Amino acid sequence: MTPLKIVEYPHPALRTKCKPVATIDAAVQTAAGQMLELMYKHEGLGLAAPQVGLDFQLLVINFAGDPEQKEHEVVAINPMVVEAKGAVKDREGCLSFPGLYQDVRRAKTVTVQYYTLAGEAKQMICNDLPARVWQHEIDHVHGILFIDKMGPVARMGSKKALEDFVAEFDAKKKKGEYPPDLEKRL
Ligand SMILES: [Zn+2]
Repeated sequence: MTPLKIVEYPHPALRTKCKPVATIDAAVQTAAGQMLELMYKHEGLGLAAPQVGLDFQLLVINFAGDPEQKEHEVVAINPMVVEAKGAVKDREGCLSFPGLYQDVRRAKTVTVQYYTLAGEAKQMICNDLPARVWQHEIDHVHGILFIDKMGPVARMGSKKALEDFVAEFDAKKKKGEYPPDLEKRL
């Protein structure tokens, strides 16, 4: 497996509607390990499969953003929000939009279900920041990005940054900076 790499907006991989994982095999295990490494290296709180060009429902989270705090580390397969309550607006960013932070309204409390790498079904209730991270990452596996969830003011405030991302992406593509196997999968 070639080393995974985080893709940035507007890479089409970010719009992938991922398939549920049917078998937790070596490919899934390896991807999860590499995604954790990338998440810590880039100081993110979460990372989802489409952000590394993969098309199955896998994400990694560490609410503390700290590799030393393994108790906050989650590898989630086929995750879903089964209940959402309340609403709260707060600052949000994304590893595929470096430097862009905007207010996004999310449910305050969510109940999520997922499978661990060991194939064990789990359910978790989270509030505030952890709930926000779960909603953001689960959106990713359905091809939904935080810019889609922004209100009109945040959207307006992001306009320039998004245009810059598009210009940068076009320049990188021209230079052939995206590995061909990633391009093929789109
Ligand atoms: Zn993100």
